[in-house]
Amino acid sequence: MAKPFASSADLGEKRQSLETLAEGVYALTAEGDPNVGAVEGEDFLVCFEALATPVVARAWLARLREHTDKPIRYLVLSHYHAVRVLGASAFGADVIVTHEKTRELIAERGEQDWASEYARMPRLFKEPASILGLTWPTATFSDRFTIDLGGDRGDLVLHYCGRGHTEGDLVAWLPRQRILFAGDLVESQAALYTGDAFHRDWASSTLDRVASFGAETLVGGRGAVARGAGEVEASVGQTRDFLAVMLREVSAAGTLKEAFERTHRALEPRYGSWPIFEHCLPFNVSRLWDELHGVERPRVWTAERDREVWDELQS
Ligand SMILES: [Zn+2]
Repeated sequence: MAKPFASSADLGEKRQSLETLAEGVYALTAEGDPNVGAVEGEDFLVCFEALATPVVARAWLARLREHTDKPIRYLVLSHYHAVRVLGASAFGADVIVTHEKTRELIAERGEQDWASEYARMPRLFKEPASILGLTWPTATFSDRFTIDLGGDRGDLVLHYCGRGHTEGDLVAWLPRQRILFAGDLVESQAALYTGDAFHRDWASSTLDRVASFGAETLVGGRGAVARGAGEVEASVGQTRDFLAVMLREVSAAGTLKEAFERTHRALEPRYGSWPIFEHCLPFNVSRLWDELHGVERPRVWTAERDREVWDELQS
């Protein structure tokens, strides 16, 4: 029997959990759906990630408003993917911050990515007509961007760790609380999406930099909050292992179809039951196949190309 395309048949609501990680530091996780967060400054808020539509974002903000009524000065977006950025208008933020490569990716492929992600994961796009258009950053940086939280709250520092899940991922680091919002560079018991990735950089220098923060709490792109150095290490380790297995299996394959079958067989025992595993794998293997055959930058995913790759590999 053919598998339904991507996550198009995944229609069950996920249970959301709002956790206070330290005073004024919040994370909303949702059983494998995209995570979001917020950090209180002295008289303002920084929100991390915007979700897929303004309607979905407003539900998150209503929960956040049970804890704080400070105005949102900054909206930080970890990378360009539609399910994390298209809800931005709900925040009314003064400043929208991304890495400079993310701005370029939005210009180059934001429209196509929107159509692709909507078809892959329609459940995340509640009331898609509420989206006002592509989200554009109003501030970008290349290496780091520091937000002084005011009072004695210390800094929130945005870092670029190198190419990884995309060409322009950032992480948000609270040095005083040792809390890291890692975006999709790290997943916690959720499958990786690597369709826009640079696998070799991600699995080596980029994850080395992420690990070097020595976080004691880590909020990944999907999955539960990792608490304590052991769980943080396990999340980073799982991400690295997933990539290493993909690199090993795709390198050893003679055809794309064989690469998919080998990778599926090798990853399935450990990761097969994790959210979006079957959804992601065809796109992941397709990109890694390209990467290992000299295609430097990921090809643009369109709704049409998604279907072609899915039909070739997953059905
Ligand atoms: Zn992503």
